[in-house]
Amino acid sequence: MVGAYPEPAHSHVRIDLQARLDCIAAMIADENAAARTSRLISVLFEDIAESQADRLSSNQRQVRLLQKALELGRWPAHFVTTCRHCKVLSDVTVSRQDFQDSIQSQCPASCQLTLNGQTLTFRAPTGIEEKTVLEDAGLGSAALLGILHVPRDASPAANGCEDGEALPAVSDEDADALLVKILEECSPPVGVLNLDCPSCQNQIRFWFDSIDWISRHVWSAIDEVTVLARAFGWTEEAICALPQSRRELYLKEARGMVQ
Ligand SMILES: [Zn+2]
Repeated sequence: MVGAYPEPAHSHVRIDLQARLDCIAAMIADENAAARTSRLISVLFEDIAESQADRLSSNQRQVRLLQKALELGRWPAHFVTTCRHCKVLSDVTVSRQDFQDSIQSQCPASCQLTLNGQTLTFRAPTGIEEKTVLEDAGLGSAALLGILHVPRDASPAANGCEDGEALPAVSDEDADALLVKILEECSPPVGVLNLDCPSCQNQIRFWFDSIDWISRHVWSAIDEVTVLARAFGWTEEAICALPQSRRELYLKEARGMVQ
């Protein structure tokens, strides 16, 4: 459901200025959403290159973003959510642990589904596959299903091996239904909490938007650089090179907060 977020407390931001600027650059890059997510993950995790982030499964990508989001801001956090049953707004207080508990630690890399009486193995799509194959390349669901099919005998095709387990022809409609099952098994949604509506007692699903949360906690970097550049004529590079404690002091000076 829709979440409304409080203003972040800047003092709780744990990412340094350069990384926050890099996050913003990743989020506004002129690319598709999947490519922006890969870039954002590579900025947030020093040990994950952009090309590696591309290859992570959709679930793994969501988990990475949620982990970083939970490091930012004040927790427990307060949200406002709308019940889809009674349309009443209610306040929700969520702890970090609530979201951590919502992450399935053992998310299978592949699953088996029956198609035309044949049991076939499929793997989870990577984030890039899930979005770019369907949205950009214009390929249908059946094409994506073909990409996700894992032949039983994974011998290199270069040897001319036939795996004897080709994916039967399937309509886009049937492929859609199979893709939903693959995602349910191998890529369950992350950051979703089932809560009881205090007004009508029906269950409401609260979905936490990790990228939105991260965005709200890094965006102040633009203001910090702008204030210091205007006040002292420094470049972005020079401002980023300052130790944080000195930068905060100059920020107070520039904002007229130093006595
Ligand atoms: Zn309700």
